[in-house]
Amino acid sequence: MTPVKISPIFFLFPLLCLAACTKPPPAQSEFVLGTICTVNLYGEGTQKRYGEIFSRIRAVDREMSVNQDSDVIRINQSAGTGQAVKVPQNVIDVLEQACYYADLSGGAFDPTVGPLVKLWGIGTETPRIPDESEIAAALKLIDWRDLVIDKDAGTAWLRRPGQALDLGAIAKGYAADQAAAVVRAAGIRGALIDLGGNIYVTGSRGDADFKRGIGFFKNTGRRKASDSENDRPWRVGVQDPLQGRGAYIGILQIRNKSVVTSGIYERYFESGGKRYHHILSTSDGCPVENGLLSVTIIAESSTTADGLSTSVFALGYEKGRALIDSLKNVEAIFIFEDRSVQITNGLRDIFTLTSNEYSLYPR
Ligand code: ADP
Ligand code: MG
Repeated sequence: MTPVKISPIFFLFPLLCLAACTKPPPAQSEFVLGTICTVNLYGEGTQKRYGEIFSRIRAVDREMSVNQDSDVIRINQSAGTGQAVKVPQNVIDVLEQACYYADLSGGAFDPTVGPLVKLWGIGTETPRIPDESEIAAALKLIDWRDLVIDKDAGTAWLRRPGQALDLGAIAKGYAADQAAAVVRAAGIRGALIDLGGNIYVTGSRGDADFKRGIGFFKNTGRRKASDSENDRPWRVGVQDPLQGRGAYIGILQIRNKSVVTSGIYERYFESGGKRYHHILSTSDGCPVENGLLSVTIIAESSTTADGLSTSVFALGYEKGRALIDSLKNVEAIFIFEDRSVQITNGLRDIFTLTSNEYSLYPR
């Protein structure tokens, strides 16, 4: 009997296939939380890890979105009925943190801003300028002290009918922290989490480069890096609020930090030549106007950075700066309408202004 000759290609093919199939997937993106969320685990990402990260992000969306059925919507629906609503632990965590920032900002940040957000509809298909009486009625409903949280029972409720939560100013930060927790638990050396400009960088950058913050992302490609090169900080660009996504005014060099910006450029509409953006004053009910174009917060927790970016933007420079200076391990970049930029002391060595359209103070 003639032995059957098997071509080496038969052996090679499954091996090649295996190599292709086990190749770590590149960065993954998904539309969640009303925005594009991208996670890059730089060669250490398996389908399972990406799957776990995105399922955590989707869970936050299901729990906290106000644009679809969610646990937060159930709280809103039961406002004023006296019925405590059982919600997942994540929701309790975020509500507690939201109340903390509401207290810290004297109510400039307020998670019960829902009726006002709905009234303006900024970021929806039908934004409009409400009339004064509508604004006055919405303002009366805003008070975070009417949110009752029972941590032990895992319940929350709003005291008055018509009150409504909106966690748009903090939920993305919480989702980024959830994603970062998976990354840390998996011992991944360097990862980038970008939830619609809400950035978290863990570990060090290795061979990856990130220029956007809030703008765009660039991987300089794979190359063998020595240990010391691998230990380099990430370079995160800070979005130029007057230009399209990707244009940046300067670069931050950071490790294990979240960078979150609140500004006039994220969501807005224009009417009569005037821009109406989405951070609303809980005092006069209109988009905040205080000379700031954006506030970027750098902190270890993304929930902190997100909560504070909105709080500080709403408070304005003087009060916002005083608040940041009173907190440990939190830094800020303020960009003003006159194109001046102020940074807190901890950023002096790690922030470089690269745009000559702006001036940095103190220099
Ligand atoms: P982004 O959504 O672009 O990340 P922010 O974190 O600053 O920006 O959140 C803005 C969102 O927060 C608004 O779209 C709205 O849902 C909500 N919001 C607006 N004004 C306030 C406020 N004064 N306090 C709390 N939340 C607010
Ligand atoms: Mg925010």
